[in-house]
Amino acid sequence: MIYIGCHLSVTNGYEAMGHQMVDFGGSTFAWFTRNPRGGKSKDVVQEDVQALQQILERKKFGKLVAHASYTMNLCSANTDTRANGLDMLQKDLEKMEALPGQYYNFHPGSHTGQGADVGIEQIADGLNKVLWSEMQTTVLLETMAGKGSEVGRNFEELRAIIDRVVLNDKIGVCFDTCHTWDSGYDIVNDLDGVLDEFDKIIGLNRLKAVHFNDSKNGCGSAKDRHEKLGQGFIGMDAMKRFAMHPAFEGLPFILETPNDDEGYIHEITTIKSWFDL
Ligand code: FE
Ligand code: FE
Ligand code: ZN
Repeated sequence: MIYIGCHLSVTNGYEAMGHQMVDFGGSTFAWFTRNPRGGKSKDVVQEDVQALQQILERKKFGKLVAHASYTMNLCSANTDTRANGLDMLQKDLEKMEALPGQYYNFHPGSHTGQGADVGIEQIADGLNKVLWSEMQTTVLLETMAGKGSEVGRNFEELRAIIDRVVLNDKIGVCFDTCHTWDSGYDIVNDLDGVLDEFDKIIGLNRLKAVHFNDSKNGCGSAKDRHEKLGQGFIGMDAMKRFAMHPAFEGLPFILETPNDDEGYIHEITTIKSWFDL
């Protein structure tokens, strides 16, 4: 069994997202901690959090997967962008404590010409500045497609970041199927091989969440264009084999496919049918 959901708008608060996902038939969800392209985040209202927590318990939801802003870049060559990213990360993580025990996923960063090695150092350095030992959120590094100067385009780069983080018991990985495929891991023809490699390099114990997307492009394209389930180069058979693989048992699966509400409800229903839910 896995938990299934999609991205929701946080505009009407946390409780509203809980109700919406119950209506969608899902059992987890994601939201952007602030406008995905940057900007401010709203203050947390305690009653709103408690109302959501009741829904999560009553409906037996899995872990939730908050998503950082795309503009947050801990390894930009621009010092202001880097400082701003660090500030966003710190504020987001403080805010996440109102909803303890959930996941916070972010794109490790784009080194913007500095080179992956410098990027890795700066990302780890940023995390070392903001993580604290009592925090209750697990921070997830997302597997990236490798477009532009993205860091995290292979398992080795993610491992290198994790190795440099002092409090790395707070760090996990979110496996984005579109990104990982686009970066050159053949999850269609060799899922077991890819997962073996993940286990050897990162460790399957770090695998905490999945972004469940088909891809508009072929394996190794480094493009990062998501497609609806079954309509891309990964295809429905491989998506199904992936979801049902025992390595993902109990994990939250977040759809980031190009869909409207009806489309998400349809995909959630499809995935649930694989598990006879
Ligand atoms: Fe992402
Ligand atoms: Fe993703
Ligand atoms: Zn993507």
